[in-house]
Amino acid sequence: MIGKGLLIILSGPSGVGKGTVCRVLCQENRRLVRTTSLTTRSPRKGERDGVDYHFVDEKKFHELKEQGAFLEWAKVHGNFYATLAQEVEELRQKDYDVLLEIDVQGAAQIRNSSVEGVYIFLLPPSMEELWRRIMGRGSDTPEAMKERFNNAYHELSEVWKYDYVVINDDISRAARTIEGIIMAEKCRVEKNKQFLTDFIEKGDKY
Ligand code: 5GP
Repeated sequence: MIGKGLLIILSGPSGVGKGTVCRVLCQENRRLVRTTSLTTRSPRKGERDGVDYHFVDEKKFHELKEQGAFLEWAKVHGNFYATLAQEVEELRQKDYDVLLEIDVQGAAQIRNSSVEGVYIFLLPPSMEELWRRIMGRGSDTPEAMKERFNNAYHELSEVWKYDYVVINDDISRAARTIEGIIMAEKCRVEKNKQFLTDFIEKGDKY
Protein backbone atom coordinates (compact mmCIF):
# COMPACT_ATOMS: atom_id res chain seq x y z
CA MET A 1 0.00 0.00 0.00
CA ILE A 2 1.32 3.44 -0.86
CA GLY A 3 1.34 5.91 2.02
CA LYS A 4 -0.08 9.41 2.15
CA GLY A 5 3.11 11.43 2.30
CA LEU A 6 4.59 12.74 -0.93
CA LEU A 7 7.61 11.13 -2.55
CA ILE A 8 9.91 13.85 -3.85
CA ILE A 9 12.73 12.84 -6.14
CA LEU A 10 15.58 15.30 -6.44
CA SER A 11 18.26 14.70 -9.06
CA GLY A 12 20.91 16.86 -10.58
CA PRO A 13 24.51 16.64 -11.64
CA SER A 14 27.25 15.85 -9.18
CA GLY A 15 28.50 19.11 -7.65
CA VAL A 16 25.22 20.98 -8.03
CA GLY A 17 24.66 21.06 -4.26
CA LYS A 18 21.81 18.55 -3.89
CA GLY A 19 23.05 17.41 -0.49
CA THR A 20 23.21 20.92 0.95
CA VAL A 21 19.81 21.92 -0.43
CA CYS A 22 18.27 18.71 0.97
CA ARG A 23 19.81 19.32 4.39
CA VAL A 24 18.42 22.87 4.52
CA LEU A 25 14.98 21.68 3.39
CA CYS A 26 14.78 18.94 6.03
CA GLN A 27 16.07 21.21 8.80
CA GLU A 28 13.35 23.73 8.06
CA ASN A 29 10.49 21.31 7.43
CA ARG A 30 9.87 18.78 10.17
CA ARG A 31 7.45 16.73 8.04
CA LEU A 32 10.04 16.31 5.30
CA VAL A 33 12.62 13.57 5.75
CA ARG A 34 15.50 12.07 3.83
CA THR A 35 16.24 8.40 3.68
CA THR A 36 19.67 6.87 4.21
CA SER A 37 20.82 5.16 1.02
CA LEU A 38 23.05 2.13 0.79
CA THR A 39 26.33 2.45 -1.05
CA THR A 40 29.30 0.25 -1.84
CA ARG A 41 31.68 3.24 -2.04
CA SER A 42 34.07 3.93 0.83
CA PRO A 43 33.16 6.62 3.33
CA ARG A 44 34.67 10.06 2.67
CA LYS A 45 36.31 12.00 5.46
CA GLY A 46 33.70 12.93 8.06
CA GLU A 47 30.99 10.61 6.70
CA ARG A 48 29.31 8.33 9.23
CA ASP A 49 27.85 4.88 8.65
CA GLY A 50 24.08 4.87 9.11
CA VAL A 51 23.95 8.67 8.90
CA ASP A 52 25.33 9.73 5.52
CA TYR A 53 24.94 6.26 4.00
CA HIS A 54 24.75 2.64 5.04
CA PHE A 55 28.18 1.56 3.80
CA VAL A 56 28.01 -2.07 2.61
CA ASP A 57 30.16 -4.39 0.51
CA GLU A 58 29.05 -5.60 -2.93
CA LYS A 59 28.06 -9.04 -1.60
CA LYS A 60 25.60 -7.53 0.88
CA PHE A 61 24.33 -5.07 -1.73
CA HIS A 62 23.53 -7.82 -4.24
CA GLU A 63 21.94 -10.02 -1.57
CA LEU A 64 19.53 -7.21 -0.66
CA LYS A 65 18.89 -6.50 -4.34
CA GLU A 66 17.99 -10.17 -4.93
CA GLN A 67 15.61 -10.03 -1.96
CA GLY A 68 13.76 -7.13 -3.62
CA ALA A 69 14.68 -4.74 -0.80
CA PHE A 70 15.28 -1.76 -3.10
CA LEU A 71 12.85 0.84 -4.38
CA GLU A 72 15.55 1.71 -6.91
CA TRP A 73 19.27 1.20 -7.38
CA ALA A 74 22.01 2.40 -9.70
CA LYS A 75 25.71 2.19 -10.44
CA VAL A 76 27.19 5.68 -10.29
CA HIS A 77 30.90 6.44 -10.84
CA GLY A 78 31.67 2.72 -10.44
CA ASN A 79 29.85 2.31 -7.09
CA PHE A 80 26.41 0.93 -6.30
CA TYR A 81 23.71 2.99 -4.59
CA ALA A 82 20.18 2.05 -3.53
CA THR A 83 17.13 3.25 -1.65
CA LEU A 84 15.49 0.83 0.78
CA ALA A 85 11.83 0.38 -0.17
CA GLN A 86 10.72 -0.40 3.38
CA GLU A 87 12.20 2.79 4.81
CA VAL A 88 10.34 4.94 2.26
CA GLU A 89 7.11 3.01 2.75
CA GLU A 90 7.14 3.29 6.54
CA LEU A 91 7.82 7.02 6.52
CA ARG A 92 5.08 7.71 3.98
CA GLN A 93 2.63 5.64 6.02
CA LYS A 94 3.41 7.93 8.95
CA ASP A 95 2.48 10.84 6.67
CA TYR A 96 6.02 12.14 6.26
CA ASP A 97 7.02 13.58 2.90
CA VAL A 98 10.07 11.67 1.75
CA LEU A 99 12.90 13.33 -0.12
CA LEU A 100 15.13 11.10 -2.24
CA GLU A 101 18.39 12.55 -3.47
CA ILE A 102 19.16 10.08 -6.24
CA ASP A 103 20.74 9.95 -9.68
CA VAL A 104 18.83 10.00 -12.98
CA GLN A 105 18.91 6.18 -13.44
CA GLY A 106 17.25 5.59 -10.07
CA ALA A 107 14.69 8.31 -10.81
CA ALA A 108 13.87 6.60 -14.13
CA GLN A 109 13.22 3.29 -12.32
CA ILE A 110 10.69 4.90 -9.97
CA ARG A 111 9.08 6.79 -12.87
CA ASN A 112 8.63 3.45 -14.69
CA SER A 113 7.08 1.81 -11.62
CA SER A 114 3.63 2.24 -10.11
CA VAL A 115 4.95 4.52 -7.35
CA GLU A 116 3.88 8.15 -7.74
CA GLY A 117 6.48 10.86 -7.28
CA VAL A 118 7.25 14.52 -7.81
CA TYR A 119 10.39 14.89 -9.93
CA ILE A 120 12.65 17.89 -9.43
CA PHE A 121 15.90 18.54 -11.27
CA LEU A 122 18.45 20.85 -9.66
CA LEU A 123 20.59 22.81 -12.11
CA PRO A 124 23.83 24.69 -11.46
CA PRO A 125 23.80 28.41 -12.37
CA SER A 126 26.06 27.64 -15.37
CA MET A 127 28.32 24.96 -16.83
CA GLU A 128 31.38 27.02 -15.84
CA GLU A 129 30.19 27.09 -12.25
CA LEU A 130 29.60 23.33 -12.29
CA TRP A 131 33.13 22.72 -13.58
CA ARG A 132 34.50 25.00 -10.84
CA ARG A 133 32.50 23.25 -8.08
CA ILE A 134 33.48 19.73 -9.13
CA MET A 135 37.17 20.60 -9.54
CA GLY A 136 37.17 22.59 -6.30
CA ARG A 137 35.86 19.71 -4.20
CA GLY A 138 39.27 18.11 -4.01
CA SER A 139 38.02 14.93 -2.34
CA ASP A 140 38.77 12.73 -5.37
CA THR A 141 41.60 12.21 -7.86
CA PRO A 142 41.74 14.57 -10.91
CA GLU A 143 40.61 11.67 -13.15
CA ALA A 144 37.63 10.94 -10.89
CA MET A 145 36.68 14.63 -10.87
CA LYS A 146 36.91 14.82 -14.68
CA GLU A 147 34.70 11.71 -14.90
CA ARG A 148 32.22 13.34 -12.52
CA PHE A 149 32.03 16.40 -14.76
CA ASN A 150 31.49 14.26 -17.89
CA ASN A 151 28.75 12.27 -16.13
CA ALA A 152 27.19 15.52 -14.92
CA TYR A 153 27.16 16.88 -18.45
CA HIS A 154 25.43 13.73 -19.78
CA GLU A 155 22.91 13.70 -16.91
CA LEU A 156 21.64 17.10 -18.02
CA SER A 157 19.98 15.48 -21.04
CA GLU A 158 17.55 13.75 -18.61
CA VAL A 159 16.11 17.06 -17.41
CA TRP A 160 13.20 16.83 -19.90
CA LYS A 161 11.74 13.88 -18.00
CA TYR A 162 11.36 15.83 -14.75
CA ASP A 163 8.33 17.83 -13.57
CA TYR A 164 10.24 20.84 -12.24
CA VAL A 165 13.61 22.48 -12.67
CA VAL A 166 15.23 24.61 -9.96
CA ILE A 167 18.47 26.58 -10.36
CA ASN A 168 20.79 26.41 -7.38
CA ASP A 169 22.33 29.87 -7.59
CA ASP A 170 21.60 30.45 -3.91
CA ILE A 171 20.96 27.62 -1.42
CA SER A 172 18.15 29.21 0.57
CA ARG A 173 16.43 30.47 -2.60
CA ALA A 174 16.60 26.97 -4.14
CA ALA A 175 15.23 25.46 -0.89
CA ARG A 176 12.36 27.98 -0.80
CA THR A 177 11.51 27.22 -4.44
CA ILE A 178 11.36 23.50 -3.68
CA GLU A 179 9.15 24.20 -0.63
CA GLY A 180 6.83 26.08 -2.98
CA ILE A 181 6.68 23.09 -5.34
CA ILE A 182 5.88 20.74 -2.43
CA MET A 183 3.15 23.07 -1.20
CA ALA A 184 1.61 23.32 -4.67
CA GLU A 185 1.68 19.52 -5.07
CA LYS A 186 -0.19 19.14 -1.78
CA CYS A 187 -2.91 21.50 -3.05
CA ARG A 188 -3.62 19.46 -6.19
CA VAL A 189 -7.35 18.72 -6.48
CA GLU A 190 -6.68 15.10 -7.42
CA LYS A 191 -4.62 14.64 -4.23
CA ASN A 192 -7.49 16.01 -2.09
CA LYS A 193 -10.48 14.16 -3.50
CA GLN A 194 -11.62 12.57 -0.23
CA PHE A 195 -11.21 15.79 1.73
CA LEU A 196 -13.16 17.73 -0.93
CA THR A 197 -15.96 15.15 -1.11
CA ASP A 198 -16.40 15.23 2.70
CA PHE A 199 -16.16 19.02 2.73
CA ILE A 200 -18.87 19.53 0.11
CA GLU A 201 -21.17 16.85 1.60
CA LYS A 202 -21.38 18.86 4.84
CA GLY A 203 -23.28 21.52 2.87
CA ASP A 204 -26.31 19.14 2.78
CA LYS A 205 -27.10 20.04 6.39
CA TYR A 206 -27.95 23.64 5.58
P1 5GP B 1 28.12 10.57 -3.70
O1 5GP B 1 28.98 9.35 -3.83
O2 5GP B 1 28.83 11.81 -4.20
O3 5GP B 1 27.54 10.74 -2.33
O4 5GP B 1 26.86 10.36 -4.68
C1 5GP B 1 27.06 10.13 -6.04
C2 5GP B 1 25.73 10.14 -6.75
O5 5GP B 1 24.92 9.05 -6.31
C3 5GP B 1 24.91 11.40 -6.54
O6 5GP B 1 24.39 11.83 -7.80
C4 5GP B 1 23.77 10.94 -5.66
O7 5GP B 1 22.58 11.67 -5.86
C5 5GP B 1 23.61 9.50 -6.11
N1 5GP B 1 22.94 8.69 -5.11
C6 5GP B 1 23.06 8.75 -3.76
N2 5GP B 1 22.26 7.85 -3.17
C7 5GP B 1 21.58 7.24 -4.16
C8 5GP B 1 20.58 6.22 -4.19
O8 5GP B 1 20.12 5.70 -3.18
N3 5GP B 1 20.14 5.84 -5.42
C9 5GP B 1 20.61 6.38 -6.57
N4 5GP B 1 20.08 5.95 -7.72
N5 5GP B 1 21.53 7.34 -6.59
C10 5GP B 1 22.03 7.76 -5.40
